[in-house]
Amino acid sequence: MTDTARAIEMLKTLVSFDTVSRKSNLALIEHVRGLLGSHGIDSRLVYNESKTKANLLASVGPNVPGGIVLSGHTDVVPVEDQDWHSDPFVVTEKDGKLYGRGTADMKAFVAIALAALPDMTKAALKRPIHFAFSYDEEVGCIGVPSLIKLLNAELPKPSAVVVGEPTEMKVVTAHKGVTAVRTVITGHEAHSSLPHRGVSAVMIAAELIEYLRAMSAENAIKGPKNPLFEPEHTTLTINRIEGGTAPNIMAGHCSFQWDVRALPEDDANIYIKKFSDYCRDVVLPRMKAVSPACNIEIIPRAGTPALKPEKNSDAEQLCRMLTGDNVTRHVSFAAEAGQFQSSGLATVICGPGSIAQAHQPNEFIERRQIELGVKFVKDLIGHLSR
Ligand SMILES: [Zn+2]
Repeated sequence: MTDTARAIEMLKTLVSFDTVSRKSNLALIEHVRGLLGSHGIDSRLVYNESKTKANLLASVGPNVPGGIVLSGHTDVVPVEDQDWHSDPFVVTEKDGKLYGRGTADMKAFVAIALAALPDMTKAALKRPIHFAFSYDEEVGCIGVPSLIKLLNAELPKPSAVVVGEPTEMKVVTAHKGVTAVRTVITGHEAHSSLPHRGVSAVMIAAELIEYLRAMSAENAIKGPKNPLFEPEHTTLTINRIEGGTAPNIMAGHCSFQWDVRALPEDDANIYIKKFSDYCRDVVLPRMKAVSPACNIEIIPRAGTPALKPEKNSDAEQLCRMLTGDNVTRHVSFAAEAGQFQSSGLATVICGPGSIAQAHQPNEFIERRQIELGVKFVKDLIGHLSR
């Protein structure tokens, strides 16, 4: 069997585990642990609080510093309400494309790394290769912090982290950060024929959302810019809202969620503070004049830090050497790379497949991308054996 065929077999296996983020990833993790064990490699698992999910950390090669971390998330986004033409959890090949949930984002990278295990264990590695596989990336990169903590506590310091998100095997040295914010509005219920006696939380939400929209539009023109990103400025969007009881009751409750995707040189907190000040100084006094119980809560979730460009870092140099890609590339999607970097590890994103297919119905990866990924890992093994 060729190396590519082995990687594709592994991809088929990984995709067959339905690891949509809200479900457990333990079946996949146990499978990978078993596979590593069959090559004599121990795995360390870090569970979530309810023990329904786990990160996996394992090392091949000598227990010395200067190793390379191959990082991937094991969870995938949901398939509901998407028009799939084949079973999302069965890899189906057609015209050189392999379809299935997670083929691009990002089980192919994990599969390629695992399929190379026989080569890794046979090679006389002078520096180790570490596998760092996480859970809950797709719901805000919330699984990986405990994995990074374990890695930094237990392993001799690696020289580079390669996060294998789909970049078509190009080297990406920066990504935007993301901070999600929940805004919860408490209004005051009244009959909708007597609006002056109540405060509709839904109408307040509409006003606040318009404020955020205008702030975002203004920032697109006047805010900081970095042309290496698309779009070249920090963005702010609102994509979830719920509230109200009935058309004829002034709404007592409404909440909405928004996110700030900030350039590495920008700071999401500036936008959150501006919004908070506006709520406190302009909107809330008007609400409280009707009922003191009215409130606006602004709850930022732990954000994912941006990946900042670190010119000629070990990670950048390694991946440029292995791929031959010397173009400076930044991406707007957030990844675990910023988290690895902020723990003190040189990090880049470089993986097979295209982000254009990520999260889409009929997600696919081109066979050619798997071949490039296989070559990357093969060359990495060669490099670490010298
Ligand atoms: Zn991903």
